[in-house]
Amino acid sequence: MQRIKSIEALQRYRKKVSGRIGLVPTMGALHAGHLSLVTAAQNANTKRTNGKKVNAKNDNDLVVVSIFVNPTQFNKSSDLEKYPNTLEADLQQLEAAGVDAVFLPNFEMIYPDNYQFQLTENSLSKLYCGAHRPGHFDGVLSVVMKLFNLIKPDYAYFGEKDYQQLSLIKGMVQAFFLNVKIVSCPIIREADGLAMSSRNLRLTPIERKIAPQFYATLISDTSLADKKQQLASIGFDVDYLEVMDDRLLAAASLGEIRLIDNVPLDTLTHGIRGTSS
Ligand code: AMP
Repeated sequence: MQRIKSIEALQRYRKKVSGRIGLVPTMGALHAGHLSLVTAAQNANTKRTNGKKVNAKNDNDLVVVSIFVNPTQFNKSSDLEKYPNTLEADLQQLEAAGVDAVFLPNFEMIYPDNYQFQLTENSLSKLYCGAHRPGHFDGVLSVVMKLFNLIKPDYAYFGEKDYQQLSLIKGMVQAFFLNVKIVSCPIIREADGLAMSSRNLRLTPIERKIAPQFYATLISDTSLADKKQQLASIGFDVDYLEVMDDRLLAAASLGEIRLIDNVPLDTLTHGIRGTSS
């Protein structure tokens, strides 16, 4: 696995290699959710189900993972400072997974302009998570655009865990006629239902025991108003519970840690659509 630590080295790598590139952008502290994106990029599912390698549309020749804790998408400095860093373990996992290259830039490399230029979306990015994290999605879209321009992937893999982010990235690709296909990957959960997240590492043991109640409440057979009340009574500080597309999206904090999750409406028994929160 090539470890690429500068823009120049990345540009040399990009000139040297040919074939289809699948990109998995991450902020590190890797878990099985991230690795599922790597697997999707490697198209292992197709290989497994068919028993032989099929040249499916998203069958990449090379898989590149980026690890960059992007400061511009953090709206709280304490969240950035405490973001988990498990770089050596991350690199070992990626190597073991057979990733071809990992891009490890720093702030100065990605933002030579010190973030004077940035990408802004003026509608969806202001809602839901955007309403509670001003500037967050500008930071996300700016860094993803830069990674696309630098790595020039044919396919890029994003998790449905960050459903609003996924939707905004798809919108950006359309709006700017970018030559990359966005592949969405399902949410990977712990055995107790908690959506995997790097920030879960920061939950206290007591919070970690309570945290699965977030997903359990989302999928419970109750109205939006009851879900909100229930979460608050357990100790969650709820930012929002809203329907977007065919999903129920939610964000809530447990102590210092903000959790997000979402579930498809058709998996809910209670008639959420059309009900007010
Ligand atoms: P992050 O490192 O949190 O920026 O996440 C990098 C990518 O992994 C994003 O596309 C996320 O949506 C995706 N991801 C994070 N957690 C999960 C999960 N539990 N299941 C699936 N994808 C995930």
